[in-house]
Formats: sequence, structure tokens, C-alpha cells
Amino acid sequence: MSASEAHIDKVVDQYTDFLNPGLANLMRFGGFGDVEESAEGCILRTVSGAEFLDCLGGYGVFTVGHRHPKVVAAVHRQLDRMPLSSKTFFSEPMADLGERLAGIAPGDICYSFFSNSGTEAVEAALKIARIASGKTRVVCTEGGYHGKSMGALSATGRDVFRQPFLPLIPGFAHVSFDDAAAAEAAMDDDTAAFIVEPIQGEGGIISPSPGYLAALREMCSRKGVLLIFDEVQTGMGRTGAMFASEHWNVLPDIITLAKALGGGVMPIGVTMATPDIWQRAFGKNPLIHTSTFGGSPLACAAGLATIDVIEQEGLLRAAVERGEQLLAGLRGVQANHPDALVAARGMGLMLGVEFAVKDYAEIAINAMARRGVIAAYTLNNPKVIRFEPPLVISKAQVDQAVTAFAESVEESVEMLRGL
Ligand code: PMP
Repeated sequence: MSASEAHIDKVVDQYTDFLNPGLANLMRFGGFGDVEESAEGCILRTVSGAEFLDCLGGYGVFTVGHRHPKVVAAVHRQLDRMPLSSKTFFSEPMADLGERLAGIAPGDICYSFFSNSGTEAVEAALKIARIASGKTRVVCTEGGYHGKSMGALSATGRDVFRQPFLPLIPGFAHVSFDDAAAAEAAMDDDTAAFIVEPIQGEGGIISPSPGYLAALREMCSRKGVLLIFDEVQTGMGRTGAMFASEHWNVLPDIITLAKALGGGVMPIGVTMATPDIWQRAFGKNPLIHTSTFGGSPLACAAGLATIDVIEQEGLLRAAVERGEQLLAGLRGVQANHPDALVAARGMGLMLGVEFAVKDYAEIAINAMARRGVIAAYTLNNPKVIRFEPPLVISKAQVDQAVTAFAESVEESVEMLRGL
């Protein structure tokens, strides 16, 4: 056994003995039985010496790539001064990021509450919606993904994750995504909020039809329901706009961000809303919702550098251009295998390919890994392989991803034909 094989075995055994044996098996059989060692840009290296093109991008985290030098430098500078806040004095990095986010956020949204993850950003959004509206019920979408803490899970729309934890928070109703009439029918006098991803990510990369978000906006305003856009995955340039909701020109009342905001270096989540909502949420008691680590100086330094990188390096345009190239390539593969592949879709570099059955997707993900390309299925829809590479991906790397995908689909079709 080589030194690197022994190293890998050691880590897999540790997962088995100390973390999660089932997960260790899933990863090994999924084609990811190696140990990550370092990463840069779109490339990830493992201890066995293999190099992978990262087309998953940490489920949307690595929008500016792995270890972007400007983000790393900003975090280093902050690390040498003050990594975590004393939670007594004012914190300048948090104040700066609050102001910077207010400058890019849609409409009048200008207040920020910082946390450490997407699910925490959603928890805060749900609590703020309740206290600001004085109402309790929440309408959400089937297939929607908002996280797995109790509040966020109450909004998440997939039974396998929900069922073992029932009863969840009362008053959450799920309606079909992209069905405005169903949304309206589910709202009553006690509905505080409607929460939705502008493009469903884990649900299978599903864009709304053109009038859906505007129809939600109109009915929410009319009925006094707060509209929450969960942009944890779609935000920070992923779809070719800073916020995906800009594509449809629809303003939410509350917005959540996480994943890419930390520049692939630090964990951070944020919940943002308008002055009126903030006054109603925090006006009486500024400590009504808090987080010890949320908005740490390190995370905020990373967030500030990330916004600079997205703007200065033209990453919104890059998402559109490389996204068009990648989507055209994926559609080419689909055209060659219309029985196995039923759709290729998405916006910017948030793309998905839907297989007729999930077995094809599983085999194709494994085959891509063997060809040095990382991809994964969407959590609420295992028939869909998602492509969410860093926006800094090059033309040649997009070609490489398409070639690996084409060969992998070929392999999965051959394999299933043989069964
Ligand atoms: N909301 C959306 C739209 C997401 O895609 C995710 C994660 N996939 C979350 C919330 C939860 O984020 P986290 O895993 O950081 O808690």
C-alpha cells in the first residue's frame, strides 16, 4: 500500500469511526474516496496527487474560486488584528459590510443581521417576518430548500428530510413552485410570509415562468404578507446578476444570503430587510435575535473583499458568458441522448441537467469524478446533476467539463443498457 493510500484509508476510517459511517460509504461509492488537500481557482487537489476541475463549487460557495488571493489577503490582514469580535465595542468590519450590502441590495433593503450559514439566515428571516407582521403562518414551496434547522426545515419542501422530525413548527404550508394561484389560495389572514428561492436550487435548478415572482409580489403587497427571497444559493453573482431576483425586477421585503458571500474562505450568512421591517423587528428590543459568532470581523473582511472581486473582475458578465458556453455544451450532449437526458437548464453558472432516472445521474457523477471533474446532484432532486463552477472558470475548463460530461453520459447509458 502506498503512503497516500494509507493516508486516505486513515481518514476514511476516522469518518467511519468518529463522524458518519453511512456518509463515508456514500462518498466512497460516489467516486469521492480521496482526501482533499488544497485548492486554487477552479482546481482542487487530493492527497493521492489527483487534480479535479470543481464544477460543483461547494454547492455555490466558491463563486470567486478557491482561495481568491484578494479574499485571502483581506482575511490575513484581519486575522493579524482581531479575528473575532469582543461583542462589546463597535465592530468596523461589520459596519462596513452592512453599508456595502445596503449599496448593492435590491430596493430599500438596507439593514443586515449577520449569522454563520444559510440555515441561520433563514431562521432569522422567519423570526423577523413573524415579529414584524405580528402573524405566524408561512407559505413555502414544494422542492424548496432553506436548510435543516427546525425553523428552516419547516420551510424546506422535501419529505425525506422532514418526516423523521415531525411535528415541525406549526403553520407552514407548502404549495407548488411557479403556481401563483396556489400561493394565493394558501395565504390567509394569519400569514406572515411567503418564502421562495427565485430559482429553485436543490429542487433541481428550476427557473420560474416570467410572471411568477411579480405575481407573488403583487399578492403579498395586497394581502400584507412579507415576501422573503432566499438567495443563499442564487445570490452574489451566481446567475449573472448580483441577486437573481434582479432578472425579473421584483423586490422582496426580506432577503437571505450566505454561501458565496464569504468568498469561499469564511462562513457567513446575512438576513436583510427594509427600515420599516427592522423597526418593527428590533425597535422594542435590539437583542431580540442575536448570534455570538455572526458577523465576525474575519467573515466580514472576507465579504467585503468578495463584493470587490465580483465587481472589479467583471464576474457577473463572466457568469453570463461562461454560462452560455456551458449550457450550449450540455444541450449538445442532451441532443445526443434524448432518452437519458430530459432537460438542460438554468441561468448564468447555475445550471442543471435532468436525467430520466436517477441511476443515470449517479453513474455519470462517478464517471465524471474518474475523469477529474467534480459534479453532484441537487439535494431535493437526485435526477438532476448541477453545474455551479466558480465564475472564474476559463473557456478551456468549460470545454473540459463538457467533454467529461459527454463521455460520462455515454458510459452511464452503455452501463444501464447492459443491465
Ligand atoms: N437556502 C438555500 C437556497 C440553500 O441552497 C441552502 C443550502 N444548499 C440553504 C438555505 C442552507 O444553507 P446552509 O447549508 O449554509 O445552512
